[in-house]
Amino acid sequence: MSGLESLYQQIILDHSKQRTGEGLLEPSHAAAENHQYNPTCGDEINLRVELNEEKSAIEHVSWEGDGCSISMAAASVLSDMAPGMSLTEFQELVDKFREMLRSRGQIEPDEEYFGDAAAFAGVSKFVARVKCAMLSWVAAEEAAKEATQH
Ligand code: ZN
Repeated sequence: MSGLESLYQQIILDHSKQRTGEGLLEPSHAAAENHQYNPTCGDEINLRVELNEEKSAIEHVSWEGDGCSISMAAASVLSDMAPGMSLTEFQELVDKFREMLRSRGQIEPDEEYFGDAAAFAGVSKFVARVKCAMLSWVAAEEAAKEATQH
């Protein structure tokens, strides 16, 4: 295993233990929830996105769920990164994350852009695990769209 790969595994392990955003927050602005289930692995998540007052940016991401360490770590990384992003920036991040995960190890992530989310680059080599990593991100993408209509 390369040094980079073991660093990435450590980041995923850390986030799966020290989970950012775990525990649903009571929203004070427009918010929406989304539920996703991954039957292949048994991962399940219920995730809430709260927007800022102007409905232009993400204020909070909170969630409850159960699943493998990849799925839990991905929810934690997302909850760390998304707050403060405009909805456009957030959608771009989700699109790029999805593109990286579907690349079967072909896309080298820009670590400056992705931060801890770069750690999931290695997951893209394991097709069966891609959904584990995407689950919470899909939930957040759906919830953010719905929240703008509230
Ligand atoms: Zn999983």
